[in-house]
Amino acid sequence: MRPARLLLLGGSTEGQLLAAALDGVPGLEVISSVAGRTAQRRPLPGRLRVGGFGGVSGLVRYLAGESIGAVVDATHPFAATMSEHAAQACQQLGLPLLRFTRPPWPAEPGDDWISVPHAAAAATALAETGRLSGLERVLVTTGRSDLTALAELADHWFLIRSIEAPTGPLPAHHEVLLDRGPYRYENELSLMSERHIQLLISKNSGGVATAAKLRAARALDLPVLMIQRPAHPDVPVVFSTSDAQQWVMAQFG
Ligand code: NAP
Repeated sequence: MRPARLLLLGGSTEGQLLAAALDGVPGLEVISSVAGRTAQRRPLPGRLRVGGFGGVSGLVRYLAGESIGAVVDATHPFAATMSEHAAQACQQLGLPLLRFTRPPWPAEPGDDWISVPHAAAAATALAETGRLSGLERVLVTTGRSDLTALAELADHWFLIRSIEAPTGPLPAHHEVLLDRGPYRYENELSLMSERHIQLLISKNSGGVATAAKLRAARALDLPVLMIQRPAHPDVPVVFSTSDAQQWVMAQFG
């Protein structure tokens, strides 16, 4: 019988939802793990550990040392390194691994999305002469780790929305708006109209909390530079808390 101890890789809404759903399950200990990037964390039930493991080898040592019986990777869709490390470590130890995530947003009728593979490609698309020429007022919602890619763009003005203040290089003309979702459609519409936004840069994170900006961009006929998700390892995936919960219960009998 596997030890009834689950490692839940979080830092996401899904991590919070599953930790809450498994809180109080008799005989099951859930250890939530976060990278520790944000200073203001939402409270989580159960045990919490903070910080990296030290690569795949560090994670293998941690899983073995803590007698972890199964792992749920509920990290954000753009946290691809952690997902890859989890897949490799679990394979080495023969541990069951589930990915709990949210589906990407699909483009809807009326959307004007330009797909790019990463933030650097979004910067290139802005700098090139072409259909985005003249669109100088840009709302950026990618999170602060992707802003370096935009730092050299001096001909645009960026409204940078992020949960915590950016620390790396930023473009010459910008304003930082500190805010945290969930966001409402009416507010997104007002923000984009009042600030005369002409273009949105977003990651395809999926989920409901931050989807209103896409509806607002559609209503205002704004193009969206949509950064596609990185590739993830081939492991079983679920998209709902109840499916994730069921999988966990099945692992521990
Ligand atoms: P990443 O590139 O996949 O991970 C970089 C390193 O951070 C990992 O190798 C690992 O360090 C450590 N790490 C990441 N997630 C961890 C976790 N849950 N517990 C312990 N260590 C973790 O991830 P990232 O994009 O920097 O994101 C970091 C965290 O922020 C993730 O947990 C993610 O869920 C959350 N987040 C990310 C985004 C985003 O857009 N990327 C958005 C919202 C939330 P070691 O190699 O030392 O183990």
